[in-house]
Amino acid sequence: MAKVYGILGDIHANIDALSVVVDDAASQGVTDWICTGDIVGYNACPSECIRAVRDVLKAPVVCGNHDYYVAYEQNLADFHPAAAQAVLWTREHISADEMDWLRSLPMTKPVMGMTLVHATMDMPDHWGYIFDDLQAASHFVYQKTPLCFHGHTHVPVVYEKTAFGAMHHDPRQFEGGEFRVLPGRQYFINVGSVGQPRDGDPRASYVIFDTASRTVRFCRLPHDVASAQARDRAAGLPERCAARLEVGN
Ligand code: ZN
Repeated sequence: MAKVYGILGDIHANIDALSVVVDDAASQGVTDWICTGDIVGYNACPSECIRAVRDVLKAPVVCGNHDYYVAYEQNLADFHPAAAQAVLWTREHISADEMDWLRSLPMTKPVMGMTLVHATMDMPDHWGYIFDDLQAASHFVYQKTPLCFHGHTHVPVVYEKTAFGAMHHDPRQFEGGEFRVLPGRQYFINVGSVGQPRDGDPRASYVIFDTASRTVRFCRLPHDVASAQARDRAAGLPERCAARLEVGN
């Protein structure tokens, strides 16, 4: 049966941005949700975002690095100090039940012939960042399905497997933000970030995949950045978490 998937990730406890995405998706006929992880971290509404993804969207979810570091008392030395501070804050502001749910998230997940991962399929728990075609080529060695969706860099992009490795496509160059998945090809698609975009565009990013038309549409939505910033500041989170939301980095 044909489905219209809303695929979202890197929500990062930004309920203002998430609400706008969910409303938009309803108006675009989304029937099912998929989440590429990092529901928590950086911003002030982790419980609200966990409950929305788990109980309302009922999305299959993979574990992001912030979800992982919140759920397991890992050494935070590798994290930027502001990110680490937000991880510590988040641990104090979610319920035991929500913490258990974060611990239950898998690193990778198959969904209807697609694959989900937060970072890369080569060593998903090493949280490598894919910023170029060479790094994408290493990932493609491990991608077995035609489509794999991910996040982590907070920059929307499509990587396509080629005979010699991989090539990228910038979604801003797609007419109407849309491209068609061709048979026999493999794509590794970064859906961007709902709650903290980093491509210089502060609008929330997510993707709609229509299994009937085989089209992937990249969507960007303005949201109430001032509201999210006010929540972050009232929560006592590092100023950098609030400040970066208005510049999209
Ligand atoms: Zn993230």
